[in-house]
Amino acid sequence: MTGALPGDGDGTRAVRAGLPDPVKHEPALPGPVFAAHYHLPGDPTGPYTYGRDENPTWTLLEKAIGELEVPGREGTETLVFASGMAAISAVLFSQLGSGDAVVLPDDGYQALPLLRTQLEEYGIEVRTAPTGGDAQLDVLDGARLLWIETPSNPGLDVCDVRRLAEAAHARGALVAVDNTLATPLGQRPLELGADFAVASGTKQLTGHGDILLGYVAGRDAQAMAAVRRWRKIAGAVPGPMEAWLAHRSIATLQLRVERQNATALALARALRERPEVTGLRYPGLPEDPAHKVAAQQMRRFGCVVSFTLASREAADRFLAALRLVDDATSFGGVRSTAERRGRWGGDAVPEGFVRFSVGCEDPEDLVADVLRALDASAA
Ligand SMILES: *Cc1c(COP(=O)(O)O)cnc(C)c1O
Repeated sequence: MTGALPGDGDGTRAVRAGLPDPVKHEPALPGPVFAAHYHLPGDPTGPYTYGRDENPTWTLLEKAIGELEVPGREGTETLVFASGMAAISAVLFSQLGSGDAVVLPDDGYQALPLLRTQLEEYGIEVRTAPTGGDAQLDVLDGARLLWIETPSNPGLDVCDVRRLAEAAHARGALVAVDNTLATPLGQRPLELGADFAVASGTKQLTGHGDILLGYVAGRDAQAMAAVRRWRKIAGAVPGPMEAWLAHRSIATLQLRVERQNATALALARALRERPEVTGLRYPGLPEDPAHKVAAQQMRRFGCVVSFTLASREAADRFLAALRLVDDATSFGGVRSTAERRGRWGGDAVPEGFVRFSVGCEDPEDLVADVLRALDASAA
């Protein structure tokens, strides 16, 4: 049971990802190791010395995520963090210093503006560009790092990772891709040329809406050593229980992703027919403005659909009328959620903008609930 698996389908890979070789009388996935410190007589050498630096439960999870992000690719490294933001901060703050310039999306995750303030306070120049349309190319000169989020949250725009990575590398810049929305089964940024794949594992990767997690996968040993050092000094490490739950959840990733993404497409098709729905976005819809680029680099198109209703009141009535869908933030869980994104402020979205995360309900039930809620909330 060592070496390459006899079959490399995503489902096969997901159920076996990161498992140790079988040991008689041991479980397939060893339980969480709860340890602040380990027996360590003599010189303090690795692998396991202190619980903020390393943990055997993280090691297996890191192996699992690495096998999905970069199958068969030796020489890459994956590090897990306490949350997606911990992982994002680890890359930004370990790779950038005073006087450096970074390019961030201006339509990405809602905490990016907070990061921008912090980066600027540290003397880092922050330039921004929208996700779609290649405007990043105009602000790359002299930048140390290009940060892209594709598909973007919540607008679901897509950028051409290969093209931007080539352009960034030609100018000596590193490239990080936020892969949260796609998951590694939807898109593999390192294979598309990125230096870092960074994600929140809080969303579809773990998929049950019950843990926070983040990770960074990277190909450059020196850059990853700096990320590891940042994890040690910031200390934003996942608990062993969360790491174990994440690993357990990844076993069903392919099943969840297949169901959720297929239903998301069915929902998008149903919403397309509704006159009260505008601004419908789903990168898997053939007529979506992002579909062409998405189809070149994505293997699956995600479980999030976004659209706009006439007003804040119309969106609130719709959300209240849903019975199978929780009005809640975040996305990617087995239970569908939706929210009026404008309630947070910060995202440049219309008041009636709804971000809808499709869960694992039966597709007919979910689509029927949405159409019924649209009917019921008609003014
Ligand atoms: C949720 C999210 C994050 C932050 O992840 P946390 O686990 O909440 O810290 C980062 N990027 C994207 C695209 C997200 O959706």
